[in-house]
Amino acid sequence: VEHDPVEEVRPQSPVKPMTATEVKVNVSIPEAAERAAATGADGVGLLRIEHMVLSLGQTPDRYVAEHGEKAFVDEIVRGVRAVADEFYPRPVRVRTLDAPTDEFRQLEGGDDEPHEHNPMLGYRGIRRSLDQPETFAYELQAFRRLYDMGYDNVEIMFPLVNDAEDVHRAVQLLREQGIDPDRRTWGVMVETPASALGIESLAEAGIDFASFGTNDLTQYTLAVDRNNEHVADRFDELHPAVLELIGSTIETCRELGVDTSICGQAGSKPEMVRFLVEQGVSSISANIDAVRDVQHEVKRVEQKLLLDSVR
Ligand code: PEP
Ligand code: MG
Repeated sequence: VEHDPVEEVRPQSPVKPMTATEVKVNVSIPEAAERAAATGADGVGLLRIEHMVLSLGQTPDRYVAEHGEKAFVDEIVRGVRAVADEFYPRPVRVRTLDAPTDEFRQLEGGDDEPHEHNPMLGYRGIRRSLDQPETFAYELQAFRRLYDMGYDNVEIMFPLVNDAEDVHRAVQLLREQGIDPDRRTWGVMVETPASALGIESLAEAGIDFASFGTNDLTQYTLAVDRNNEHVADRFDELHPAVLELIGSTIETCRELGVDTSICGQAGSKPEMVRFLVEQGVSSISANIDAVRDVQHEVKRVEQKLLLDSVR
């Protein structure tokens, strides 16, 4: 028999619970796409471009100088497409490049990278993309190509945004590459206190979603370097100050019709899942291995909230 109809309709996992809050999955390398999709996740909450670029062994500028623009764009298209294919039509949220200079420096061509006292507070994410629009354009060309190929499940996410000015400038660059922001789904990571406190103006700037990058939001709210072992015991994503920023952002976003999500590591932790579902988050993105547990935790909290509401 060529086709086994039973096989075709069988759900990817028999025990996936139905939840109102979507549960998505984080994908850091395209090679993990199949395993990630098999979790039955409702989409990809974070696909990092970093690996696709860093694995080339050269900085983007060096790679383009040696192999040409098209080859660089091809690499990004290939990586994103592998995931977008696997998940289609489930949405795949792709984050534009966010590698700190110390990671770029290890690549061929990295000698030209600026030396920074604290790369985490420095030249990375949307700041660098806006400062180097020619290099950023390659990423946007990749998105354009994917849309032209019909991958309308691809969403664009900008990292380390602080304010509406960042958003306006990023959107302008989207337009310049022929991407219509009104036709595509795009948004920002909320990973600086400024972006959480200024969420209203970000919403006015047109974002479709805000996704909590709790790894950075925690580091910047508590002034605790996420890579410093001496203060590692102070790195607490559940600190009241972090939760206050997340809770108020969700509330504002709900009022303004903006989707909310989490794509930081804390999205895989039951305590955070509980807090977010209670606050009314739209979706939670977890690590591949945590997706099933998060699905069940979300279900449990949703049922409890429902019971509480009729009591
Ligand atoms: C975060 O900051 O929570 C996040 C998901 O981004 P990254 O870990 O890549 O900085
Ligand atoms: Mg981050």
